[in-house]
Amino acid sequence: MKINVPVHKNESLSGKVIDLTYQGMGVVKVDSFPIFITNTLPGEEIEYTVTKVARNFAYGRMTKLITKSPDRVEEKDRQYTQTGIAPLQHLAYSAQLKFKQHQIVELLEKAHLDIDVDETMGMETPYHYRNKAQVPVRMVRGQLETGFYKRGSHELVPIEDFYIQDPELDKAIIVVRDLLRRYHIEPYDEKTNHGNVKTIMVRRGYYSHELMIVFVTRAKKLLMHDQIVAEIVKQLPEVKSIVQNINPDKTNVLMGKENKTLWGSDTIKDQLLGLTFTISPLSFYQVNPQQTERLYERAIEQAELTGSETVIDAYCGIGTISLAVAGHAKDVYGVEVVPEAIQDAKLNAMNNHIENAHFVIGKAETQMAKWQEKGLKPDVIIVDPPRKGLAPEFITAAGEMQPKKVVYVSCNPSTLVRDIQRFAELGYHVTKPIQPVDQFPQTTHIESITVLSK
Ligand code: SAH
Repeated sequence: MKINVPVHKNESLSGKVIDLTYQGMGVVKVDSFPIFITNTLPGEEIEYTVTKVARNFAYGRMTKLITKSPDRVEEKDRQYTQTGIAPLQHLAYSAQLKFKQHQIVELLEKAHLDIDVDETMGMETPYHYRNKAQVPVRMVRGQLETGFYKRGSHELVPIEDFYIQDPELDKAIIVVRDLLRRYHIEPYDEKTNHGNVKTIMVRRGYYSHELMIVFVTRAKKLLMHDQIVAEIVKQLPEVKSIVQNINPDKTNVLMGKENKTLWGSDTIKDQLLGLTFTISPLSFYQVNPQQTERLYERAIEQAELTGSETVIDAYCGIGTISLAVAGHAKDVYGVEVVPEAIQDAKLNAMNNHIENAHFVIGKAETQMAKWQEKGLKPDVIIVDPPRKGLAPEFITAAGEMQPKKVVYVSCNPSTLVRDIQRFAELGYHVTKPIQPVDQFPQTTHIESITVLSK
């Protein structure tokens, strides 16, 4: 079949941007053929060059902005768009919040679901919010560099100011980078699978100011680590934990399974909603602590607990939601697949003197069936799955347990909408407007809370 592609590579054209994709790219159409262009906004008249042509779409690069959108703000730095660190940096924050609300509305409409979506709960200071950094370490033009990959590539762009991260993380990364340079440590080379230091991961407690530094290495040995550790401790007084994570495989998975504590504690602590949490290197911990408190508060409010309920917290991580809920419920049962996270969760329950929270290691979909067999009857099920959403078996088991409510915390509206449809088949419907909460300002990620009732 011959397809008519109306544009060709390197062609220069002009047009009007008519939409913004969920990845934050402006859309121009030639006939009905879409061309995606970064750093452009709906309503803008632009001149552009076609850079890449595929079967059903093309990419372009803006060469001239003719009319500006009223929602446009000045770009902080081209690199934040190039790398995808802040692909919405050119969009005013109030418009980012509308964009996120609208993305959910559109997906619901496409699925013919008549459900309201509230305005996105935004952040007062929508940058410098991330409490965790994961930066690749590579040789660039003969020098060890830390930064971020160009979108869709493994080409490292050296960056010192990451804009959306806690500036203390930026500082720590520079200290560590300079030490790796000083001691001539070899960065990892993906092409040859040689070299050693692949990634530096840094976490900092928002309230505690405790700092953890993790070196992800290919080899078991990290040369000069005694000297490097001593210097880090001297230069970064907040540091509480320095860990080596060994990841020998040629893989896109960031961290390996084996951790070696090089100095200090194996974990750091932080607080959320007045509770103290211990966080291990391999455990998931929400990256925007200020908005996480608002997200949890709202989710708990939506669960409408009176203190007598049995609650399941599926995909519980280190038990943050479970423990925040424990004070409002009779019992909470948490399940999570990462063993270290469950170890943290149990410790967290103990440290906060919480006795009605129970944690199990396992796949949520499998554990639900086991709980059901044992006759567990939850009044409320809270879920907070990763981007791929809920497994169909999970939804089936959840439905059979006949909870009054399911509170669905989602980080991906497209799997959320799919799962809402699956719940509908079991008689569970959305009874309140969906509440988006902006956990990731300047990026296209969308977090939201949905309540389903029988
Ligand atoms: N509710 C927690 C964690 C949410 S992130 C918080 O707010 O901090 C999602 C969690 O689901 C991660 O900890 C991840 O390890 C876990 N996970 C991923 N797949 C899973 C599965 N099939 N079963 C159980 N947990 C899973």
